[in-house]
Amino acid sequence: MAQVLLIEDDPAIRGALIRGLTERGHAVDSAAAALPGLESAVTNRPDLVVLDLGLPDLDGTTVLRMLRGVSAVPVIVATARDDESEIVAVLDAGADDYLVKPFSAAQLDARIRAVLRRTGDAVADPAVVVGGLRVDPRAREASLDGVALDLTPREFSLLHYLAARSGQVVSKRELLTEVWQLPYGGADKTVDVHLSWLRRKLGETAQEPRYLHAVRGVGVRISAPQG
Ligand code: CA
Repeated sequence: MAQVLLIEDDPAIRGALIRGLTERGHAVDSAAAALPGLESAVTNRPDLVVLDLGLPDLDGTTVLRMLRGVSAVPVIVATARDDESEIVAVLDAGADDYLVKPFSAAQLDARIRAVLRRTGDAVADPAVVVGGLRVDPRAREASLDGVALDLTPREFSLLHYLAARSGQVVSKRELLTEVWQLPYGGADKTVDVHLSWLRRKLGETAQEPRYLHAVRGVGVRISAPQG
């Protein structure tokens, strides 16, 4: 799942974590001291580094600063002591998360996945693509076959909500709650009117839908046109 570099001098802990992370599908490289660990981080470009703070050659904060000088790789630090000032110092020095020993490989794996999710989201393109439709929530822009759609804010929100759930039928009640923020009221008619405007802007009709499919008595679904 991820390429992990484990920098840990205790052979028992190192062995147990390598085993546990490998069992959970990660590819693990390891180093028993800071300097070979830094070298491996530069050469092997791991997805994430697990760094023990109590290493024989350099203290953890120094290692972290050196690592940050050459790489933006996510780092989870492992500390033996529940030492608040040290934890604060390493988080300030650029660590993404920390674990206090003893911890299990399962706990570490959960942290690894959480950190990668978080750091991955920051760089990933958030745009939703359904067929020729592209909806970018960050820029609040939508296009169809490369042509920008001129949508009102409500139409944009409606389109994004549906496109993010493409292939699923979404009820009008859910749309009123999530898009209109009207959990206890609001008429289905409101949704119908906006859907018909959206349809027109997408160049289709209820009789001959391409993207927006009404599912009678249930709601509406976006899906890419077939063929
Ligand atoms: Ca240690």
